Amino acid sequence: MIRNKILKAIRVKPGSKVRLDDYDSGLDILPELKEFDKDDLKAMASEMLEENRAELAEMQELLYASDVHSVLIVLQAMDAAGKDGTIKHVMSGVNPQGCQVFAFKKPSAEDLDHNFLWRYMKALPERGRIGIFNRSYYEDVLVVKVHPEYLGKLPKGKVDGEFWEKRYDDINRFERHLVRNGTLILKFFLNVSKKEQKRRFLERLDKPEKHWKFSEADLAERGFWDDYRKAFEDCFSTTSTKWAPWHIIPADHKWAARALISGVIARAVNDLDLKAPELTAERKKALVAARRKLMSE
Ligand code: ATP
Ligand code: MG
Repeated sequence: MIRNKILKAIRVKPGSKVRLDDYDSGLDILPELKEFDKDDLKAMASEMLEENRAELAEMQELLYASDVHSVLIVLQAMDAAGKDGTIKHVMSGVNPQGCQVFAFKKPSAEDLDHNFLWRYMKALPERGRIGIFNRSYYEDVLVVKVHPEYLGKLPKGKVDGEFWEKRYDDINRFERHLVRNGTLILKFFLNVSKKEQKRRFLERLDKPEKHWKFSEADLAERGFWDDYRKAFEDCFSTTSTKWAPWHIIPADHKWAARALISGVIARAVNDLDLKAPELTAERKKALVAARRKLMSE
């Protein structure tokens, strides 16, 4: 099925050496898609998003009821790639009580007084919940790798030639620990092209209702585009694992990105094969007794 092929094409195979140039940010992600025109694809994507959203809403109830697994969704991207819109569109329909979103900004002085995973650890979703990390511990091997002056306080001698390899290793082990304890981890990189980012920045400058979204800091980071690409490639090559794979999502078209991300999440949660908790014989008896009591009022 074409859907399976697409999902496979966007998943980073563990151990593979990632070159972002091999992942199109537009619609050229699979030869089979060439026979459709853009409007067809857009219509298909919108249908897919609807289906996935409905499925996710249903499964989220089961996730909550069964109270065993949690789901951690990690979103990373360059600025203006559409993380916020993705959260809004993919999670609409899911009960807000079962869902938590954390946006990680620059670490505070208190954060920097701890190990780098500390602030993320505190924000992990509880059993039964879906947690979304809008940026995550991956910032500590992305923005911090591009700007090592953000490293904060570390003992002398710790920042050696293998420093980043060791950080990837810390992250892999951290994630494995979470997975072993019942967390499903799904990681997404919204792959936007440099050209599309420019278009979106210009839109923010041109449209008064979008002015508030423009930030000079984003423009400054754009200046480090190639360094970020390299950091992303290194990161995906080492941290896409069997237990917590990366997905590289073509993000030049928001509708495509949303359909794909919702598809990956719906599929993975479905694969957990969640069931409503079974009642014990004792509980069943208690329910019968409760009914009898109510009816006798
Ligand atoms: P939006 O702009 O949509 O509100 P955003 O995620 O871009 O969302 P900003 O406040 O603009 O939020 O940016 C947050 C900044 O904090 C980013 O530049 C990011 O790289 C930076 N940041 C996040 N985590 C870390 C970290 N661990 N160390 C240093 N900088 C970080
Ligand atoms: Mg920003």
